[in-house]
Amino acid sequence: MLVLVINSGSSSLKYQVRDVAQGSVLTEGLIERIGVGNGGGGDGEIEGPRDHAEALELVDAAIHRELGDQEVAAVGHRVVHGGERFAEPVLIDNEITRAIERLNPLAPLHNPANVLGIRAITRKWPQMPQVAVFDTAFHRTLPEHAWRYAVPEELYTNHGIRRYGFHGTSHEYVGRRAAALLEIPEAEFDAVIAHLGNGASVTAIQGGHSVDTSMGFTPLEGLVMGTRSGDLDPSILVFLGRAGWTPEDVDSMLNRDSGLKGLAGNNDMRSVVEASEAGDAKASMALAVASYRLAKYIGGYHVAVGGAKALVFTAGIGENSHQFRSLVAGRLGALGIELDAGLNAARSREPRVISTASSAIPVLVVPTDEERAIAEATAAVVSG
Ligand code: ADP
Repeated sequence: MLVLVINSGSSSLKYQVRDVAQGSVLTEGLIERIGVGNGGGGDGEIEGPRDHAEALELVDAAIHRELGDQEVAAVGHRVVHGGERFAEPVLIDNEITRAIERLNPLAPLHNPANVLGIRAITRKWPQMPQVAVFDTAFHRTLPEHAWRYAVPEELYTNHGIRRYGFHGTSHEYVGRRAAALLEIPEAEFDAVIAHLGNGASVTAIQGGHSVDTSMGFTPLEGLVMGTRSGDLDPSILVFLGRAGWTPEDVDSMLNRDSGLKGLAGNNDMRSVVEASEAGDAKASMALAVASYRLAKYIGGYHVAVGGAKALVFTAGIGENSHQFRSLVAGRLGALGIELDAGLNAARSREPRVISTASSAIPVLVVPTDEERAIAEATAAVVSG
């Protein structure tokens, strides 16, 4: 079965066509500058597609060029927010589309864009089965003591303020692959999964289910990320508000100018590691803050799951930065965790163990593949 996986942003549309049985990518691409236009119409400026419908025409043409008359059987959408309703991927109809839209206030940048992608497909291919795969769904198993914030009840009842968690598709996929590699049945798999990309989150898995995760009401909470601060004292926001910062100023500072960028002036882990190795003290401090924060979460989640059977690294930094993995593991001696320097430094695209034989628990690197997970979930829903 061929599945078209769509990640629809407000001004971009990322797509992949996957052969689910083969696990392969047949074609992929990214349409950018949707609805942006060219501003002045000067020479050499490319006019972007006017809207998501026009972007979809470009995708359709590209797919036909690459695949000839092979037919796409279903579309899988990455949808950021599934709120409290969606615990699993679902077949999309008008009611589901409206339900996703009703969650717009919880994900104002993402859900409206996801809905634009869904509606564009509905209009172009009305008979095409479409499936929504939610970033939050895997975390619907969080117990109340993990998802509740210690604030008055009405914030939850009136505004839906609680921990939702994100990156669920990746955490679930990586957890399942790690359990398979270690030959532990999923139902007995207790682990800590660190998804470290531009956005980063860590999840506590118990019996194969998410029982805690570091991102919260929004993806801002938790770890030090590329440009996001992660955890801080909420009074800082009140303090800044009194000092005249607008909500937009604060939002932009915390989401776009903080994290590695705020500490080291660069949001790219590879550059920060290189700068640190060249003697840049700010870069070294940024790595220390980020690795320390993550190590604290890993220690906490080890407790949350009653003793993890594995620690798993994934995503751009988790898969590629042996330096950062080593900094984190260096802070986990109290858990008996010990990396094998050779295995840690080796480069591979395969899931693998990077700890020593005497490490108290195995440490793994498992490459994530959210598009593959979305394609598989889509095929499963469509085939009932
Ligand atoms: P996104 O969240 O945008 O999907 P990725 O998972 O691609 O992000 O991760 C991006 C991060 O991975 C960047 O900080 C980048 O520097 C880092 N990264 C990618 N390759 C390497 C590498 N070889 N060494 C260190 N960091 C890397």
